[in-house]
Amino acid sequence: MKNMKAIVFSEQGSAEVLQYTDVPKPMLDTHEVLVKVEACAVNYLDIHARRNRPEIEAKLRREGTPHILGSDIAGTIAEIGDAARGVTVGDRVVLAPCIPCGICSDCHRGAENLCDTQELIGFQTNGGYAEYVKAPAQNAIQMSAETLSFVNAAAIPIAYLTAWHMLMTRAQLRPEDDVLILGVGGGVGSAGLQIAKLTGARVFATASSNEKLERARQMGADVTINYKDTDFSKIVLEVTNGRGVDVVLEHVGAATWDQSIASLAKNGRLVSCGVTTGNIGTINIRKMYQKQLTLMGSALGTVAELRTLVHLAGQGKLEPIIDRILPLHRAGEAHLLLENRQNFGKICLCPRETEP
Ligand SMILES: [Zn+2]
Repeated sequence: MKNMKAIVFSEQGSAEVLQYTDVPKPMLDTHEVLVKVEACAVNYLDIHARRNRPEIEAKLRREGTPHILGSDIAGTIAEIGDAARGVTVGDRVVLAPCIPCGICSDCHRGAENLCDTQELIGFQTNGGYAEYVKAPAQNAIQMSAETLSFVNAAAIPIAYLTAWHMLMTRAQLRPEDDVLILGVGGGVGSAGLQIAKLTGARVFATASSNEKLERARQMGADVTINYKDTDFSKIVLEVTNGRGVDVVLEHVGAATWDQSIASLAKNGRLVSCGVTTGNIGTINIRKMYQKQLTLMGSALGTVAELRTLVHLAGQGKLEPIIDRILPLHRAGEAHLLLENRQNFGKICLCPRETEP
């Protein structure tokens, strides 16, 4: 069989540009593996890519073939290139979402998330909204057959890796810390909540609806704040008797920046991975140095971190929140749900009619 089913688009636009059709199966290079996709999680980045990201427009123009989205992929190894090592046909794997160059100084010191020429599967390359996807063999991370479902595994890479690198590697979250997680209903937010609870920290969480906040409380959030009703920094300061929180997980950007800074305690650390509401924020420099604040950026994470996360999920210590599972051909519906923020946790697409 040379063809496969996939969701593709040839021009950027609304969810209607997504088409379910037959396309050629990927051809393998010698160092690559072919993965039979069992589950692919949808990310907000997919929507930006579909709408207007220039990298996608350039790829469509350059290659003259439709693009396939999908960066969060779990499945089984179906074929192996001649030079690929460390995998066997039939292995259950999660794919590390980034393909780093492997030869620059950042790659050599294990910080491949800083590699200037790294490519994201489903972004610079074709992704997992398909029956099959190809990737370098070293991107395939083995997963436990007994304890981790394909759907849960597919929910891990981007959201959990981002949240883990932010909280554990960058902000060095400690059990005695108070941490504020913005947008707890989203992928990074709900992953951040679970990771923070795993460390024992006290978690403050914001969301846009009381229903989402109730879910967050069930997952262990200690203090929940509806940001539609109120300035969340005021509640944070009230609950902490004016002290503030030690760590803020920020991914909203311009709309929340002032409140996020105002929520920080002395010696507080703000870690940011996104700017969905705008790139520019200001800061009172005097207050920053007097309070000895640390502002840091964070971008995805490393393969070593992803292995840790897959291991923790296999042990049941992290349980990805799945909003719903949809068949691949309903990818457009998945995008609309995400665009309208109607989800709590991840939406996963499955190419097979029956759930894996
Ligand atoms: Zn590199």
